[in-house]
Amino acid sequence: MEFSLKIQAINGFKDILPNSVGRWQLIEQRARAIFERFGLQEIRMPILEKTELFVRSIGEATDVVEKEMYSFADKGITMRPEATASIMRAFIEHGLHVQQPVQRLYTIGPMFRHERPQKGRLRQFHQLDAEIIGAVEPRIDAELIAMGQMLLDELGLTVSLELNSLGCPECRPPFKTALVAFLERSIDGLCDDCKRRTHTNPLRVLDCKKPTCRTLVQAAPSMLEALCPACDHHFREVQEALQALEIPFRLNRFMVRGLDYYTRTTFEFLTTDLGAQAAVGAGGRYDGLIESLGGPALSGIGFAMGMERIALLLEQQTGTQQDDAGMDIFLAALGSNTLAPCSLLAHLLRKEGIRAAIDYSGRSLKAQLKQAGRVGARFTLIVGDAEWAQQEGILRNMRTQEQQPFALTGTPEQQCRNLRQRLATTTD
Ligand code: ATP
Ligand code: MG
Repeated sequence: MEFSLKIQAINGFKDILPNSVGRWQLIEQRARAIFERFGLQEIRMPILEKTELFVRSIGEATDVVEKEMYSFADKGITMRPEATASIMRAFIEHGLHVQQPVQRLYTIGPMFRHERPQKGRLRQFHQLDAEIIGAVEPRIDAELIAMGQMLLDELGLTVSLELNSLGCPECRPPFKTALVAFLERSIDGLCDDCKRRTHTNPLRVLDCKKPTCRTLVQAAPSMLEALCPACDHHFREVQEALQALEIPFRLNRFMVRGLDYYTRTTFEFLTTDLGAQAAVGAGGRYDGLIESLGGPALSGIGFAMGMERIALLLEQQTGTQQDDAGMDIFLAALGSNTLAPCSLLAHLLRKEGIRAAIDYSGRSLKAQLKQAGRVGARFTLIVGDAEWAQQEGILRNMRTQEQQPFALTGTPEQQCRNLRQRLATTTD
């Protein structure tokens, strides 16, 4: 006998199976509803973009661009590792700001990063991404953050919100110089990655997770004390606006984001329930990004949330299981004469919006009732040849197991209408 090897999914690429897809649908529905309450419109972009887009926006010396991108080397294209850059590309390409100076956009979809797969960290993962483009007011920052918090709240999740400011092209360079000087003085105490980062991407050292680096940077200069007056003012107003919306937060001067384009406000929604994967969502302001991609000088702010992590938290924190897909009715056609009328009845019921299941195998009543239970049917209509000859079936309430005769008289349309009525008026 020939032996065939099973083909399995790629490491870090995961199926979302029917028994958990309910959770995913819930997350998506809530996200859409809340984003739309805040006036965001959906935008959908291609998965593939020119590699250059990510190199220029995310930054050459970031982990994402240095080692996590899925690029087709010979074609100069990359599978998007995040959504913001693609949204900005589309925004510029289609001149979206011309019609509507402030654009509120969201997108939902898969992202790709070549990282070490673990709980809550995949190579294909999914993000909910929200952006407000073209507005500089600190209240916009607060509104966007509040929207993210509202989504997590409405899903019943407990997270903490941390806030930082990364300054602007005016105040960040002198801060960076001071930071590099500090890191150089303590270089021997840093991990190998951070020794390298000291010169390629010194801010990253501030959020290194290694205990020795963490202790060492406690004494590092703080960006929050180095902000220029304009950035300082902006950051204070963001905090006041958040307080006015009654959104609790904590300042974290060690938070730097993994993408280079951020300016001023940055934030993360954090959990301690997912092991090393602390961030459920993260975002910030990117005031120079659009211009650096060849667009108008407009500022923006956005966040991305990881759907895998939200789904895991839903399971862990709220015990949300999949909601049972369920069926309204199962048609058990038992005799050879009943298969045709029952399949027409099922078809008509489905046309009327009723969830109807039917088994064509002609199996025994026992087997079909078992099947009806498996698909979660509320009722089963049992129709054997003898009953059919009497223009009758038996309607079984699957929960109470109570059975009653049900008249199958008139045209198929009338039968369908009667059955529909019966289902609507019976509470189980
Ligand atoms: P992390 O520090 O966990 O690597 P990040 O800073 O790289 O996160 P962002 O680029 O800000 O993440 O993406 C926003 C959100 O997307 C994260 O907060 C996280 O919830 C989710 N996310 C990022 N990378 C992954 C991944 N490889 N697998 C699953 N979710 C991810
Ligand atoms: Mg990462």
